[in-house]
Amino acid sequence: MKLKSLVINGFKSFADRTEIDFQPGMTAIVGPNGSGKSNIIEAIRWVLGEQSAKSLRGDKMPDVIFAGSNDRVALNRAEVLITFDNSDHYLNMQTEEVTITRKIYRDGSSEFLINGQQVRLKDIVNLFMDTGLGRESFSIISQGRVEAVFNSKPQERRLIIEEVAGVSKYKKEKQKAELELAETKEHLERVADIIDELK
Ligand code: ATP
Repeated sequence: MKLKSLVINGFKSFADRTEIDFQPGMTAIVGPNGSGKSNIIEAIRWVLGEQSAKSLRGDKMPDVIFAGSNDRVALNRAEVLITFDNSDHYLNMQTEEVTITRKIYRDGSSEFLINGQQVRLKDIVNLFMDTGLGRESFSIISQGRVEAVFNSKPQERRLIIEEVAGVSKYKKEKQKAELELAETKEHLERVADIIDELK
C-alpha cells in the first residue's frame, strides 16, 4: 500500500484546492515557518479519522475550516481526499486504489466516503486499524512525539506496540465478545429466575 495523492480543499490555511502527488521515492515538503507544513500532516490525520479537535490545534472540529485571511473571506466547508495505491490489497478492499474523503461544514456536520460511497467514521477507523496507519501508530510522527513516546508510561508504550504488531483489532473484538457474553449470562440468569417462579 502506497500513498498516492492528497487533495486539501478549504482545510486550515489551504483555502484553494491543493493536490500533492506522492511519486515513488521520498517526498519532502519544505517551507517557511507558518506556511502550512504541519497543516498537511494534520489533513492526513483528519481524513484518516482523527476525532480530537485539540490534537489538531483547535477547540472544536469546524475550526479546521479555512477561517479567512486579510484578503479572503472564511469558507463554510473543508474537504480532504487521500488516495492509496492498493494494488497489493493491503487494505481489505477489492479495488486497486482506495480514496478516503472527509468533509466538514460550519454547523459541525460531516461526511465520510470510501471510494465515493458514504460510510461511517467507524468504517474508516476499522479499515485502517492494524495497518500501521491506525490511531496510535508510528506512521505519523509529529514534532515532540519521539520524546513523548520515550517518556510515556509502559502501558501507553504497549498500546503503540500492539497497534504496530496488529493485535489491537483482536483486542477490540475480544472486548466486544466478552461484553456480549456477559449480557447473555445475565439473560440466562433472568430466564432461570422465571423458570424458578413458574415451578
Ligand atoms: P512551522 O515550520 O513553524 O512548524 P508550519 O509550516 O508547520 O510552521 P502550520 O503550523 O502548518 O505551519 O501552519 C500555521 C498557519 O496555518 C498559521 O498561519 C495559521 O494562521 C494557519 N491556519 C491554521 N488554521 C487555520 C484556519 N482554520 N484557517 C486559516 N488559516 C489557518
